[in-house]
Amino acid sequence: MTALAPIPKDAAAIILVRPETDPANPEVFWVKRSTKLAFLGGFYAFPGGQRETSDADTRVENGADQEQAAMISCAARELFEETGVLLARGSQTLTIGQRASLLDDLESKRMTWPELLNLYGLHLDANDFTFAGRWVTPPFAPRRFDTWFFLVTCPAKQSPKITEDSELESGEWIRARAAYAKWERSEIIVVPPVLHLLKALAGGLSDDLVERFLSVPEARRVPTRRIEFHPHYICFPVRTPTKPPATHTNSYLIHTSSEVLVLDPGSPYEDEQNALANCIDDLIAAGKTVREIVLTHVHPDHVAGVNALNDHLEEKQGARVPVAAHAATAESLRNQVRIDRFIADDEVLVLGGEPAIKLRALHTPGHARGHLCFFDERTGALISGDNIVGFGSVLIDPPEGNMREYLASLERMRSLPNLSVLFGGHGPAIANPYEKIDEYISHRLQREELILTAVREGASTPKEIVARVYTDVSPKAHATAERAVLAHLEKLEADGLVARTSDGTYQAHGIK
Ligand SMILES: [Zn+2]
Repeated sequence: MTALAPIPKDAAAIILVRPETDPANPEVFWVKRSTKLAFLGGFYAFPGGQRETSDADTRVENGADQEQAAMISCAARELFEETGVLLARGSQTLTIGQRASLLDDLESKRMTWPELLNLYGLHLDANDFTFAGRWVTPPFAPRRFDTWFFLVTCPAKQSPKITEDSELESGEWIRARAAYAKWERSEIIVVPPVLHLLKALAGGLSDDLVERFLSVPEARRVPTRRIEFHPHYICFPVRTPTKPPATHTNSYLIHTSSEVLVLDPGSPYEDEQNALANCIDDLIAAGKTVREIVLTHVHPDHVAGVNALNDHLEEKQGARVPVAAHAATAESLRNQVRIDRFIADDEVLVLGGEPAIKLRALHTPGHARGHLCFFDERTGALISGDNIVGFGSVLIDPPEGNMREYLASLERMRSLPNLSVLFGGHGPAIANPYEKIDEYISHRLQREELILTAVREGASTPKEIVARVYTDVSPKAHATAERAVLAHLEKLEADGLVARTSDGTYQAHGIK
């Protein structure tokens, strides 16, 4: 059942520094990814993208080796495509019109990037690109990249402007310190390398800047474990035997100056339990106390590490910490995990210390009967558990799963004011929460419509319906799809649109 994490693809990005900027607090060009994007939509980032085959053919002077040269080509090409800034030597003599037609030729793929540079007598020079680290996306994401970052000063007579059909919503010059402060105020979502780079840049363009860029092992391809999409929320993915294609479950450590809440320590594997415990120990070493372990729902990939963590905390803090969950979750876990406290719908968990973090519990059944989400009204962050995930799909498997309740839970999540981010049980944070919830709702309703049509056309069992409706799903996944169809049929039955006959088959009922 265990899936393999996606293989990282080569990518490159450019930290463009404004010419003549104040070296003590430099201005850099950052972009916002379109909220329509399925992957990292709404995140702030540096311009960049994936390597293309032709990047290996680009003429790069003074490159250390072929690989570095190709990645410089990739970075420069992506920057040009996304912002129109051309970093090639010799480009200062091009007219604006020539640059525009070069861009047009590149985007329409009339010629490749190396061919175009040759045609205009241009080349890249590695001395213009300062290596700023190489980061690998951790194995919890649906797409992974091995990204080279380069620091480059923008050529004096050019100014970046987001090109029309790029995947970017906007772009602007911003002081590194102001950008970092936006993250500190939970106003933006960034991936770990961008956060690290902004923090380093906020320290100024000093002689030791590159050293500071490279000062963490993550800048040398060690995948990040502790991910801070928002401050005070550490996302710590742990490897679990979860539902493929996901390979990890997100544990969250929500912390103030004095307290830590641990959410979903779900790994049954000792090495992963130790990694999480080490991260918690760092918070304890900083003077914080673990106050409670909280569970979003009953599934093994969310609870399997609770007892091991409590054994560890007993040793470390001298006492076990209470475990809290919804009463329905507690009932199902009776012989596996002791639940010390029940969390009811609408209850507010208040953490001591700074900042004042208050989490409103929302009983949101559907994926599981006792499923809880937690809403931070201060920042608009919603811990969405397995109701919305950043990787894979959500299975509604009766009787624990209930499609009618699930859709009602999604509607309830949709109605929350000022949602800024969803922290799901799997995969990266979701920075376009309303778009994502809408997508989930409409996906389910479309499926329901197809299933109802299939029943009206005579399909009467989940197996027959899957054969008609799930034509995009491999036969291996048919057993799972039948569970999902059953959930839809139960909803349609409750809605009065289909009826279950005495032999357990389904028929259409009346006209909608
Ligand atoms: Zn689950």
